[in-house]
Amino acid sequence: MKVWRLVAHHEDALGAIEEMKERGRIAIGWSKIGDLQIPEINNASKITSLISRAYPDLNNANLGGPTLWNLYKQMAEGDLVIVNSNGKRNCVFEVLGPYSFEEGQSQIKGYGHQRAACLTSIDAETLWKESGGKEKLGQNTRWTLFECNAPSVLRNEIFEEGEKYEIRTTANERNPYAREKCIEHHGYSCFVCSFNFEEIYGDIGKDYIHVHHRTDIHTKVKKYRVDPINDLIPLCPNCHAMVHTKRPISMPVEELATIYKLRNRK
Ligand SMILES: [Zn+2]
Ligand SMILES: [Zn+2]
Repeated sequence: MKVWRLVAHHEDALGAIEEMKERGRIAIGWSKIGDLQIPEINNASKITSLISRAYPDLNNANLGGPTLWNLYKQMAEGDLVIVNSNGKRNCVFEVLGPYSFEEGQSQIKGYGHQRAACLTSIDAETLWKESGGKEKLGQNTRWTLFECNAPSVLRNEIFEEGEKYEIRTTANERNPYAREKCIEHHGYSCFVCSFNFEEIYGDIGKDYIHVHHRTDIHTKVKKYRVDPINDLIPLCPNCHAMVHTKRPISMPVEELATIYKLRNRK
């Protein structure tokens, strides 16, 4: 596990961080060069020359090349990323997926080079100090994304599995894109008790439902990418609260559905 330091969006750092939390992604700019996943891009200097061609007036290609190379090739799932805004250490994300290039609406404030990631409860300042408060040898503090000098003591000991999983679950339940796909398939009624807000409350209840991230204890460590149809399920707030009473691992929704049916037989 590596520790990284990333500078959020240059113009609207806090807004970008909020969007990264919501969408469950980290994002970096220089989007005009497009997807890095082509055979010609096999080192940082290739990216640097692409940036200088695409942004002749920017004069920061030498920072962008190694930054994007780090995001693309050097970073890995499970790494931690300290995100900075306006010179301050703001929060820590955990990397959940591979590099991807996003277009149009999927960009975060125009930033298309991304990785799936979720917010953790790790204190950014503490992690920075534990990482020696500096960049690793060969890295450069001026790069938007650089690797920190993390001591090996840190590895895997940062947070308990339960807490880690709960953070991941919460991030997935808040992901608006995954939510939309889940509802498209399952509809707006509660999976357990069939409660439908629009049916009971009329217009004000339209489109209202919670989306729950199912727990699969066997795949919880390995599986990072959320499958909106099989991993997410619509629940009313009551049933949602009930499945989460056994923290940090939630009860299978089928188990709650059985309890509900047994107790509410007409
Ligand atoms: Zn319900
Ligand atoms: Zn839930």
